[in-house]
Amino acid sequence: MQFINVVGQSAAKQNLIQGVKSGRVSHAQLFCGSEGVGALPMAIAYAQYLNCENKGEQDSCGQCNSCNKYQKLIHPDLHFSYPVIGANELSTNFIEEWRKTILENPYLNFVQWIQKIGAENKQGNITAAETHEIIRKLSLKMFEGPFKVLIMWMPEFLGKDGNVLLKLIEEPTESTILLFVTEDREKILATIQSRTQIVQLTSLSEDEIAGGLQSKYQLSFEQATTIAKISDGNFNASIDLMEESTNDFHEIFRDWMLACVKNQMGDVMKKIDEMSSLGRMQIKNLLSYGLYVFRAGMLYNNGVYDQVIANPSDKEFIGKFSRFINNKNLYGFVQEFNDAIFHIERNANPKITLLNLSLQIEKLFKV
Ligand SMILES: [Zn+2]
Repeated sequence: MQFINVVGQSAAKQNLIQGVKSGRVSHAQLFCGSEGVGALPMAIAYAQYLNCENKGEQDSCGQCNSCNKYQKLIHPDLHFSYPVIGANELSTNFIEEWRKTILENPYLNFVQWIQKIGAENKQGNITAAETHEIIRKLSLKMFEGPFKVLIMWMPEFLGKDGNVLLKLIEEPTESTILLFVTEDREKILATIQSRTQIVQLTSLSEDEIAGGLQSKYQLSFEQATTIAKISDGNFNASIDLMEESTNDFHEIFRDWMLACVKNQMGDVMKKIDEMSSLGRMQIKNLLSYGLYVFRAGMLYNNGVYDQVIANPSDKEFIGKFSRFINNKNLYGFVQEFNDAIFHIERNANPKITLLNLSLQIEKLFKV
């Protein structure tokens, strides 16, 4: 992964490159950025740059022996740690799935990862066994160098056992670089926070997201800008939205909303039963689709109908549905749907979550 594959973040890229050029490479760094801003791809691109045999002014070469291995995430001196399931489980046991997943979408969030390893509804963990394994791996002789790199994704899942790593952070083994990548700095052990140099990433602009979508997914300028407008600075969300705009949730969503508008509790309950049986990931997608419809409906109300990307059936539906959306209730809808997604991702009971959401929606339709 090269810097060019990381969307936006030009200031952070420049700082990192300057640091390498001037020989100021801190051996323990904490990459901070909320979901979808690219902290993980940035850490990987930085590690590739550090090890590149033919560094350019702006990026790694992408062609040397080291880059070749880095681009497949198989360099023998590159190690990953990430949350997995099971009390004594090691990240290494999931490395094939990890490589495949990250090469597909390095902007993914925790829930998407946990679903990839078939552990939906379970709590992730970076185990005590994993911390000892890290110490063992990093004490091994270097294979190719010039740096041994450990990238730990989501150290917020490291319990007190993480303190085992303090000695390594303070007195690293030779040529060892530790890169921690977090979405939520506040949740990390204070002992680790205070010993690492911070690399802060920022929320992405609409232009940056649109550019990323065009270059990575070959979307048209119009499609990319419309998705960028509703993805809130989060590139991962924009990928979801892109996929959802081709998904066919509109029928079930339309019937659910209709039942809510008419305040027909019997029909609402039937829809809730139907939605609950979809499984957690699909419920989340359906709710994200709802967010897309509300935002697209608002665009429609503001006369930018032609920019609304959607398949024809969506377009017709959004046109009709938009009369229920206004400046006074849009924020409430977005907030309630986001809350519901948050609860579904964290294993709340789907039926109860959807019932609460339906009750809030009924109220909001009256605003
Ligand atoms: Zn290279």
